[in-house]
Amino acid sequence: MAAANALQISPFSSPPKPNTTSPLSLLPHCTSLRELKQIQAFTIKTHLQNDINVLTKLISFCTLNPSATLMDHAHQLFDQIPQPDIVVFNNMARGYSRSNAPLRAIVLFSDILCSGIIPDDYTFPSLLKACASSKALQEARRVFDKIVEPCVVCYNAIITGYARSSRPNEALSLFRELQAINLMPTDVTLLSVLSSCALLGALDLGRWIHEYVKIHGFDKYVKVNTTLIDMYAKCGSLDDAVSVFENMSVRDTQAWSAMVMAYATHGHGSKAISLFEEMKRVRVRPDEITFLGLLYACSHTGLVREGCEYFYSMSDKYGIIPGIKHYGCMVDLLSRAGRLDEAYKFIDALPIKPTPILWRTLLSACSSHGNVELAKRVIGQIFELDDSHGGDYVILSNLCARAGRWEDVNYLRKLMKDKGVVKVPGCSSVEVNNVVHEFFSGEGVQSVSADLHRALDKLVKELKLVGYVPDISLVCHADMEVEDKEIALRYHSEKLAIVFGLLNSPPGTKIRVVKNLRVCGDCHSAAKLISMIFDREIILRDVQRFHHFKDGKCSCGDYW
Ligand code: ZN
Ligand code: ZN
Repeated sequence: MAAANALQISPFSSPPKPNTTSPLSLLPHCTSLRELKQIQAFTIKTHLQNDINVLTKLISFCTLNPSATLMDHAHQLFDQIPQPDIVVFNNMARGYSRSNAPLRAIVLFSDILCSGIIPDDYTFPSLLKACASSKALQEARRVFDKIVEPCVVCYNAIITGYARSSRPNEALSLFRELQAINLMPTDVTLLSVLSSCALLGALDLGRWIHEYVKIHGFDKYVKVNTTLIDMYAKCGSLDDAVSVFENMSVRDTQAWSAMVMAYATHGHGSKAISLFEEMKRVRVRPDEITFLGLLYACSHTGLVREGCEYFYSMSDKYGIIPGIKHYGCMVDLLSRAGRLDEAYKFIDALPIKPTPILWRTLLSACSSHGNVELAKRVIGQIFELDDSHGGDYVILSNLCARAGRWEDVNYLRKLMKDKGVVKVPGCSSVEVNNVVHEFFSGEGVQSVSADLHRALDKLVKELKLVGYVPDISLVCHADMEVEDKEIALRYHSEKLAIVFGLLNSPPGTKIRVVKNLRVCGDCHSAAKLISMIFDREIILRDVQRFHHFKDGKCSCGDYW
C-alpha cells in the first residue's frame, strides 16, 4: 500500500500516456520536414494550428538539428505567433546560434527586447554562443547601445559577453556605468564581474565586490561563492578563497572543484588531494574539473604515481571521458618528472589528434631538462600542426643557445624571419592603488621612467651583493656582449612590474604580478632574493601557475 502511494507521488513515475489523437504525439516519430508538414496539417484539422504550445513544440523540432531549411520553416511558424513568449524565443535563439546564420539570433533578440519580453537564464547562453560563433560582440554591442534605457538584464548580456570573450576591462567599465545609473546588479552581473576581476588579477576590486555580495545577500547563491573562490585563487589570495569555501553552508560539485583547483594552482598539491578525499567521503560526485585540479596538483608537486592513478580512475571509476586538458596535465606530469620519452609516447598514442599545446608542454620540458634532440623531434610534430607560433622558435632557440649550438640558433632565427613569425612580447601587470600598470619586455630603455631605471640599477647591485648572478644563458644572441645580455635580462616585464610595485606600495604589503607567459628562470631567482632583502611577499601568476615568493623561497619549490 505504502509502496503504491510512494509511486504515485514519485517524480520518477512514468508520465501520463500521450493522447494518441494529439498531433504532437506523432512528433517523436517525425524524421523530416515533409513529415513535420503532415503533422502541421493535422494540427489544422484539429484546430490547434494557433496554439502556442503546439507551435513551440513544432519549432523546437526544427531547432534541434537546425539546417537552413528547418530554421526558415521555424521562423515562419514563429511569425505566426501573435505574442511569442520567452520559451519559444529561446528555442529560436538556440537554433540560430547552432545554425550557420548565428547573427539572426541577435537580430531576433533586439526585436524581442523591443516587444518587452523579459529574457531568462536560458536566453543568454544561446545569444552569447551566437555572438561568439559570429564573432559578433561588436554587433551585440551595437544592439545594446541602441537601447534607450537598458535594464539590468541587457547590461548582464553584454557584460557577460565581454567577460567570456576575455575582455575584462570593458566588462568592468560597463559594471561601473550600471552602478552610476543606480541599477541594481543581479547575481548574473556579479558572476561576470568577479570573473573579470579574476582575469585581470584585480584583487582590491574583487574584495570590494565581495563586500557588496555580503551586504546585499548574494552570498546565498552557491554559484556566486564558487566564483568568489575562483576569483580569490586567481588573484593570488588563497586564504580568502579558503575562508569563502569554509563559510559556505551548501557546496556543490563546482564549489568543491573550485577549491581543489585553488589549492592546486597555488602549489598545495597535498591539500588539493586531501580535499578530494573529503569530497568523496561526503559523497559529492567529482566532475571533469575536479580531476583537472587533481591532476594539476599531482603534476605540480611531482606526485607521478598518484596522478596516473587518478587519471585512470576517471573513466574506470567515474565514467568521465578525459578531455584534451586532462591529457595536457598527464603530459605535464610525466614531463616535469623528467620522464620525457614516456610523455612523447603518451601523446603519440592518444585516441584523439594531439593539439600543438600538448606538444608545447613537452617542448618546454625538453627545454628545462636540456634535451635538445627530443626537442627537435617535438618541434617537428608542432610544425606539422602550426608553424606560426613565435614562442616555439624562442624555446628551441634558447635551448640551443644554452647548449652553445649557435648554428641552430641562427637557423631558427632565419626561419622565423622567412616565415614572418613574430615573438609574443612578455607582458606583466601589477596593481597599485587600484590601478593596473602594464609592462612589456624589451621595451626597456625607451618607455621606462627615469625613476624606474634608477631603481632597477640599484636593485641589481643589491641583489648581486646577496649572490644574484644574472643567467645570461637565457639571452639567445651569440653576438651580444655579456653586459648587454645583463641589461636585456633587466628589462624583462616581470622585473619591471615587481620593481614598480616595490617603489609604489607601502613597505610590508604584498606585490601581485600577473604575467602572460611563463616566468623566466632569471626573474624567478631575482624575485626570491627581492622577497628576502626587502621583506616583501611577491605573488606572481604566470600563464601556468602561481609563485609565492617569501623569505627568499618560492612556493613552487623551484619545480615549475
Ligand atoms: Zn625574466
Ligand atoms: Zn616559483
